[in-house]
Amino acid sequence: MKTEWLRREVREFAPYVVVPIHETHVINANENYANMLDIPSLRADVEAILRSYQPQIYPKPLADGLREALAEYLSVRPEQLLAGNGGDEMISYTLHTFLNEGDLVLVHAPTFDMYEVGASLLGAKVEKVPDLPGYRRDREGILAAIRERQPKMTFLCNPNNPTGELLPASFIEDCLRAAEGLVFVDEAYMEFAGAESVVPLIGTYPNLIVLRTLSKAFGLAGLRCGYIAADEAIIAEVAKVKNPYNLNSLTQAIAAAAVRRRDEILPVRDRIVAERDRMAGGLAAVPGVTVWPSRTNFLLIQVEPARADALFEAWRAADILVKRYQGNPLLPGAFRITITTPDVDEAVLRVLREVMGRA
Ligand code: PMP
Repeated sequence: MKTEWLRREVREFAPYVVVPIHETHVINANENYANMLDIPSLRADVEAILRSYQPQIYPKPLADGLREALAEYLSVRPEQLLAGNGGDEMISYTLHTFLNEGDLVLVHAPTFDMYEVGASLLGAKVEKVPDLPGYRRDREGILAAIRERQPKMTFLCNPNNPTGELLPASFIEDCLRAAEGLVFVDEAYMEFAGAESVVPLIGTYPNLIVLRTLSKAFGLAGLRCGYIAADEAIIAEVAKVKNPYNLNSLTQAIAAAAVRRRDEILPVRDRIVAERDRMAGGLAAVPGVTVWPSRTNFLLIQVEPARADALFEAWRAADILVKRYQGNPLLPGAFRITITTPDVDEAVLRVLREVMGRA
């Protein structure tokens, strides 16, 4: 292949790396530990879907049944929603709808990589507002950057991956009022936060786009279903950009069933939140470990960077894969630990105590 065939942005692009997995306990991707098909009612729904399934027929382009189920869940209209193969796809479609080469995109840092990855691939310019010490978002800095630079798009991850910090809805409204461009609020982890979503604000602010996913609290990461909620006019434009049959019919049907069964699915979240708080206490009690407060299903911890390699390898030797942030200057000695079950969490703690207890 000749590299000159490639678009300039692709030539210069360092790929998003999904690490190969050999471990039994994988706590690096913020997945839900529960298999929701163990819920008898949802399992019965899926069996019924399979009995009448017609794979020879193309799926509904706008996932009508799923949109209706989601609209009821969020108290919005179906025309204010658009679904796709995970939040990642919806980020990509949204960027492709609005960004021209050279446009300015504002993000806070550290945060989820896909905003920067997708925007850079389109030749947009990405500016970052670093967090204040303690991984608190620099709210004044973000607002000042919006006012002074008027980016085409501003991304706010709420609660934030990987720090776990929650922004109040009032701050997001300040951003929406200050911005002439779009404000994209990623609420992938919002069901864990027990806080106010900004979805109800889509009728008030025509520049608001909210991302949600079924990968986290709904426990359906492998099914691939994410969606955006926004003003109808925005949804209509993003719908023009998406592939006509982007979301397969099996995912549409199972996702709709899961959303309707949410009263049986979402209580798992309460167990995860309680386990997260218990685990935060256990981690913080280990000398040399900093644990950042989290409103999600994961915890960000930090150790002295010189110990990070040994710790990562000790977890691997114990058959546990955690997320580490090697080479990221904003996250020295940091690891992100997905909360799972007490037995795995205890194994994580045992290794941590052992390594941090060495002279
Ligand atoms: N946003 C954030 C902040 C995430 O952490 C993730 C998943 N890691 C996503 C969006 C996308 O998730 P999915 O594509 O599985 O919906």
